[in-house]
Amino acid sequence: MASSAPPPDETATVHCSVGSFHYRVDRHVSRALLVACSTSLEEKIKFAESQATAQPCQESKQSITLDFSATAPQLFDLFTTWLDTIELPSWLIQREDTNTDERLRQKELRERELVALYTFAVEHDVDKHDVDKLRRDVINAFLFRFEKGPPPAESIPMLVAAILDREEPLIRFMAYMVALELPPSSVWERLPFGFVARVCDAVNKLEGEHRLEISERLATREAIAKVRILADWCKWHEHEGDDREKQLTCAEETKKWRMKWREVQIKVDQEKETDMDSEGSKAFL
Ligand SMILES: [Zn+2]
Repeated sequence: MASSAPPPDETATVHCSVGSFHYRVDRHVSRALLVACSTSLEEKIKFAESQATAQPCQESKQSITLDFSATAPQLFDLFTTWLDTIELPSWLIQREDTNTDERLRQKELRERELVALYTFAVEHDVDKHDVDKLRRDVINAFLFRFEKGPPPAESIPMLVAAILDREEPLIRFMAYMVALELPPSSVWERLPFGFVARVCDAVNKLEGEHRLEISERLATREAIAKVRILADWCKWHEHEGDDREKQLTCAEETKKWRMKWREVQIKVDQEKETDMDSEGSKAFL
């Protein structure tokens, strides 16, 4: 009788070598979580294990290493935090003040981190969760930041257009941002042709649906853009092939995150106000 394979060890970890030789770190990540989140990582792990099993040396059988030399350690840690908690860290979600150059720079850096996380998810095929998708969470983070704040920095659509495939949902979202929120002269001419085609699609779609006269369009475009973009967050996810139940689950999940993020944002804003009040009181002393 053939012996059956032993049950998977839920406590097993995978050694991940992260970063280049200038800044390389070792991380040990739950094998079960990696396998559960990505088909591509599951295949790599199983291949490395099959290679290790074939080794005569006992030591090489005990651990395998995944190579993440192209990934910055900070980005990898963001990914593993999401993997552990299925939640993006609060500092990536919350809106920053944009009243100084330094704060604008901080905002742009956080938006770059979000794009990097999204790109990591695409490159490593992190999409096995039916509900808890990393790419979905990143898009929701952009939507939340935009809800009561300015659009992404001008460099962000250009970054997205340079590194992502044209059909990615984040490209579609950024095309709308450029079409409706960013002034044409500053960004449009520096974008790749394929991306500008998406931008034009977005404009045409909006114009077709609203049938506005040009003067009316210019006056109301910005106001309706925000409403349209934020009306249904699931519109920006990848639901084309999903059944109704999955879509409803995602809508529920998204609603839950929005409420949670709003509560955190209120606390953050209140703390800022308290800090400013105490700074103001000190100035009078
Ligand atoms: Zn959705």
